[in-house]
Amino acid sequence: MHYPNAHAVNADLHCHSTVSDGTLSPTEIATRAFENGVELWSLTDHDEIGGQEEAASAAKALGLAYVTGVEISVSWASETLHIVGLNFDPDDAALEAGLQQTRSGRARRAEQMGEQLRKVGIEGAFEGALSYAGNPNLVSRTHFARFLVERGICSDVRDVFSNYLIAGKPGFVEMQWATLAEAIGWIRAAGGVAVLAHPGRYRLSALEADVMVEEFMRLGGRAVEVITGSHNASQYRKYTALAQEFGLMGSRGSDFHSLGESHTDLGALPPLPDALTPVWHDWL
Ligand code: AMP
Ligand code: MN
Ligand code: MN
Ligand code: MN
Repeated sequence: MHYPNAHAVNADLHCHSTVSDGTLSPTEIATRAFENGVELWSLTDHDEIGGQEEAASAAKALGLAYVTGVEISVSWASETLHIVGLNFDPDDAALEAGLQQTRSGRARRAEQMGEQLRKVGIEGAFEGALSYAGNPNLVSRTHFARFLVERGICSDVRDVFSNYLIAGKPGFVEMQWATLAEAIGWIRAAGGVAVLAHPGRYRLSALEADVMVEEFMRLGGRAVEVITGSHNASQYRKYTALAQEFGLMGSRGSDFHSLGESHTDLGALPPLPDALTPVWHDWL
């Protein structure tokens, strides 16, 4: 059914729980989202849908509308892209197999990150990161960052990333994630919609970004995150124009991870601009 005023709905379609690199359980996020006035919610853990059942049932108990979600890591050219999948069948076997394959390199990567950090004098980072991971199959750079902050090596998570965890820094390990075709293919085959997450975060030239968006669309991608905790006001405008130019729907999500670290709380975002069709326009 087409909802008459979808723009007015407080939709938060991007956030993380302890199933990936968030610090709250799916139930705790559902509660916080509800208390913050979110009216349509999706939990989008990295490369994992293990939290979907809990999220859906917590939302149901609160009377909060829910759609399934995931954020898939993709290697494209020399950049890592994030593709959010929304409103898919969580029991789809091919999607689960694809996600399992995508996250399978994380354990080895985490060990290598630990080894490389040891070489610059930081002991026990692998074990430390693991102790922060709610899901041992989903050790993320964020878990390393929390450990390095706890150790007093950096003052905050952002600092750890710029000094240790990005390309060219000692804790960085190159990864081969899913291809763009795989990620979009799995989402679509499971009946979901593929959304290009936080485009403002990718280090691509204008030409590369155009090629990437064209490929995203050719493969069946339908929407772009315009209103996200990762964008500033000028990026809201830039990606509204991009969505209009390419005929993509718009999405909205905080990308909330944790109370101390995330500057955008659940549901605390401006509305999607009127010029765009909300990706959720026919989900309510
Ligand atoms: P991974 O998937 O293990 O490579 O970790 C990626 C995650 O690290 C992202 O989803 C963010 O949560 C976090 N992240 C990436 N870059 C930064 C940054 N500059 N500051 C803080 N967190 C970041
Ligand atoms: Mn994350
Ligand atoms: Mn992301
Ligand atoms: Mn995210």
